Amino acid sequence: MTSNSLKFLEKFREVKNLEIIESQSEVKRLSKDFYNYSPILTERLDTCIADVVVRPSDHNAVKKVAKICWEFSIPLTLRGSGTGNYGQAVPLFKGVVMQMSYLNKLEEFDPDTGFVKVQSGCVMGDLKKQLEKYGRELRLLPSTWKTATIGGFIAGGSGGIGSIRWGFLRDPGNLIGLEAVTMNEKPDLLKFDAEESEPLNHAYGTNGIITSLLLATDIKRKWYSIVIDCIEFEKTIEILKTLTSAAIDLKLGAILEEEIVD
Ligand SMILES: Cc1cc2nc3c(=O)[nH]c(=O)nc-3n(C[C@H](O)[C@H](O)[C@H](O)COP(=O)(O)OP(=O)(O)OC[C@H]3O[C@@H](n4cnc5c(N)ncnc54)[C@H](O)[C@@H]3O)c2cc1C
Repeated sequence: MTSNSLKFLEKFREVKNLEIIESQSEVKRLSKDFYNYSPILTERLDTCIADVVVRPSDHNAVKKVAKICWEFSIPLTLRGSGTGNYGQAVPLFKGVVMQMSYLNKLEEFDPDTGFVKVQSGCVMGDLKKQLEKYGRELRLLPSTWKTATIGGFIAGGSGGIGSIRWGFLRDPGNLIGLEAVTMNEKPDLLKFDAEESEPLNHAYGTNGIITSLLLATDIKRKWYSIVIDCIEFEKTIEILKTLTSAAIDLKLGAILEEEIVD
């Protein structure tokens, strides 16, 4: 460890409500996402490991981490649950990985609009359960919804279950606003409306640390996943076309090869 990294570690230790993870095996684990689906990325990213991982549990700790990283010119990589599949959460140039999982509260639900304000580190599986109490559900879910965070989905995902009805995350009306901490000499917590949030939506945490999100929700319905086994490709397309134009409340329709279903 260099003297510079020892100095910033000392500074981190002074921050309240900040967990510091230094165990080499844990730091290595938390420096990876699902990039290993790609042999090219595996070769490129396998050696990219952070110096340290931190987990803030309030806004003040987030701001302090940003300030220390700025002061020492240390790269800061944000992490939700690390389910991104092309290295979005990998620290390319060492430095600090900040995992947002302790900022995980549902802050507000408005029954009139159906808007929910939630902290960015909330796992979508937990958010789903909490919204069910209000008879609501998220409009869009990635297939990793049981473990991925809502902040990681907005910053690194695009769409999924619900997309036939609601489009993609970036389509107007899904993200209503957000709060984010800036990365500069004096990090600040800023509030953005829907239009102002656009540049931070799907930006991989490169232009701000999202601390909470205001999202539109849908009425909760009981839904099921079904697989239809087809032998001919033309027939498969015909069935999917029929389903998407039928009076069925469809969330997603996808053609998968047999191996994937298995
Ligand atoms: C098997 C599999 C299936 C998938 N299916 C889908 C799918 O259906 N739809 C889809 O859209 N995606 C899908 N993905 C990828 C998708 O991006 C993630 O699953 C999920 O949305 C990411 O959430 P996460 O909490 O794991 O984020 P991470 O992987 O931890 O982070 C994703 C990106 O967001 C940034 N980030 C995280 N938190 C913050 C924050 N608070 N502020 C700013 N930036 C932040 C990270 O730096 C990173 O760039 C899939 C991935 C896998 C492996």
